[in-house]
Amino acid sequence: MLSTFGKLMILAQWLLTRRPTSVAVDITHRCNLKCLHCYWWKQEHPPELDDGQMIAFLKKLRAGGLRAAILYGGEPTLRPEICRAAARIFDATLAFTNGVNGFPELENGQWILSLDGPEIENDRIRGEGVYQKAIENLKAAPRPPIVHMTISRMNRNSLEPFVQEMMALPIKGMGFSFVTPNRGTDDDNLFIPLTERNRLVMELLRLRKKYGEKIGFTPAMARQLLTHGAFDQWNSLSTCPVNRRVRCYRSDGRSKACTYGEQADCSRCGCAAVVAYRGALNPLDYQTLKVILGLLTPEYQPKGPTGKK
Ligand code: SF4
Ligand code: SF4
Repeated sequence: MLSTFGKLMILAQWLLTRRPTSVAVDITHRCNLKCLHCYWWKQEHPPELDDGQMIAFLKKLRAGGLRAAILYGGEPTLRPEICRAAARIFDATLAFTNGVNGFPELENGQWILSLDGPEIENDRIRGEGVYQKAIENLKAAPRPPIVHMTISRMNRNSLEPFVQEMMALPIKGMGFSFVTPNRGTDDDNLFIPLTERNRLVMELLRLRKKYGEKIGFTPAMARQLLTHGAFDQWNSLSTCPVNRRVRCYRSDGRSKACTYGEQADCSRCGCAAVVAYRGALNPLDYQTLKVILGLLTPEYQPKGPTGKK
């Protein structure tokens, strides 16, 4: 009951105030993979707070009124105790993982499994054997994870085969980001030019029509990414809602501008979180609010194509 109240408070704070509501914390600076598209290992990182310091830090953030947490790394499952503690401290916790270490039980928390396409594409990006290991762990997870795909030039032609494959597995739903390059880099192998991205955005909407609400990508979210939609209303550091609503921290507790790091190129951003946040509220959109409620509420099950859970 308390946790339902907390989630409603998060939404109410979004709707009624301009205050930050959430934290995004790199709970570790370590990772067991070295994915091709990852901004993480291309950057310098400070040492991490030890367990006691990190838990005290998270409690301080919650005491300061920040109710929702997103756990990043590196790889958060390298610190399972911190993941569990965060899920107890905050009203809603999302934790991103590559799935290789399994899915520790998170009371009142939701795992987001990062996979980047069917086995061949995923393993070309994330490393040999990663797909099979992650799927094995997914099938044994205590609660269905949400699968998140980062779309790049390396996997853009595999959207439907991947969705089809995932729909046959015990997952809660799927989310999609597009690669966000660092400023001043070409990243020709990865970044999809914005005009071509428009076509893929429409393809995601087609997939939602076909596979139902498990595809967590709504028309209002699509509008935020389309170059002829609302993209230019938020794609700078001063206009991005992350800046105002989410406090981002490094693994030593120091703040940073964005989870993608200081070098992220806002003008080419493809972040699903911003797209969902803006899609839900600019203007108010029921379908996208349901996507967000699904993220905040581990028990919620989106509908499949025939209305089946
Ligand atoms: S698992 Fe995540 S943090 Fe680690 S290298 Fe891959 S994308 Fe980066
Ligand atoms: S990179 Fe994207 S999410 Fe990060 S601050 Fe820039 S626009 Fe916002």
